Amino acid sequence: MKKIQMVDLKGQYNDIKDVVSTSIDNVIENTAFINGPKVHEFQKNLENYLGVKHVIPCANGTDALQIAMMGLGLKPGDEVITADFTFAATVEVIALLNLTPVLVDVNEDDFNIDIEALKKAITPKTKAIVPVHLFGQCANMEAILEIAKAHNLYVIEDNAQAIGTNYTFKDGTKAKAGTIGDVGATSFFPSKNLGAYGDGGAIFTNDDDLAHTIRGIVNHGMYKRYHHDVVGVNSRLDSIQAAVLDAKLPKLDSYNKARQSAAKKYNKAFEAIENIITPELTNGCGENICDTCDCHVFHQYTLKLKNIDRDALVKHLNEKGIPCGVYYPIPLHLQKAYADDRYKESDFPVTNQLVKEVISLPMHTELNDEQIEFITSTIIKFING
Ligand SMILES: *Cc1c(COP(=O)(O)O)cnc(C)c1O
Repeated sequence: MKKIQMVDLKGQYNDIKDVVSTSIDNVIENTAFINGPKVHEFQKNLENYLGVKHVIPCANGTDALQIAMMGLGLKPGDEVITADFTFAATVEVIALLNLTPVLVDVNEDDFNIDIEALKKAITPKTKAIVPVHLFGQCANMEAILEIAKAHNLYVIEDNAQAIGTNYTFKDGTKAKAGTIGDVGATSFFPSKNLGAYGDGGAIFTNDDDLAHTIRGIVNHGMYKRYHHDVVGVNSRLDSIQAAVLDAKLPKLDSYNKARQSAAKKYNKAFEAIENIITPELTNGCGENICDTCDCHVFHQYTLKLKNIDRDALVKHLNEKGIPCGVYYPIPLHLQKAYADDRYKESDFPVTNQLVKEVISLPMHTELNDEQIEFITSTIIKFING
């Protein structure tokens, strides 16, 4: 059996090697390393794919979030609400800009921001909400948009884990994750669903003025050469990464399909195991992953373990050559950098529980049936003793 990896990028590479190599060679031949034509081509192609007016490429997903917040003109002291159960980058940029992060609990079923907790956290100082589409599935955007409208708040989607996912509104219309709020931010970190061969990120918006503002911010606040109208940053997607991403973009839907197919096989294998809760679909797809499923792109395949010794399971899997991950082991409100006297443990019953129960299994586009069967049977044997 092929060695199992948490993320296997080699198979994908073999498949697009020729296109990527030619494209990278062209960038080098043209020496257009920064803001070259390839970056522009990728930007246009991504705008078409997402159905969004503006894509602004930048250096990484963390920058994308930060720049989105700068572009909206958020000011020190403004409160920004986000989920307690996410990667630290989301809250990090809020703190870095001297905004006030307000962490709230998440749902047990889809791990995304809890709408009731979000409502309770709103104060007169609240200026924005950052829903994170965790593990590849959208937060409840319809409810979030309603709340944002009622309280005049910006919505900044952290779409680092959900590129290509569709969100289905109650009336049946669909929109791509990251294009629904005022602004979306994504990451092209190599292991993300659309991954570069280094760092990369992008900001999405349908707002022309905001797009203009952001295009200046990513480039030292310059709107005209050597005229610095606002304080900006240096955050650019380099042309070589754009060449890789532009070669991969036409494959993104098939990559996401491959992930769904692996998730479906995992689900089936664990169907009869009571102590294992498989990922729940909460947006427009029904209960099971079907062939036309577009509501979850499985950046992670994350189980909840009920009354199972997770540490012992992780150890056992590692001994059998099966990698796995715990995303995330500590809620953000308990991280030293983000602790705040305002938080009470009783505000976070779900995240406090999830950090003890979750385990993510290998998930990528190259998993084969033999590997999935070995992973699932090893877990089931462990549970059944
Ligand atoms: C990966 C990730 C980021 C940050 O992206 P980088 O490109 O690594 O800076 C932000 N938010 C979430 C939820 C992520 O998973």
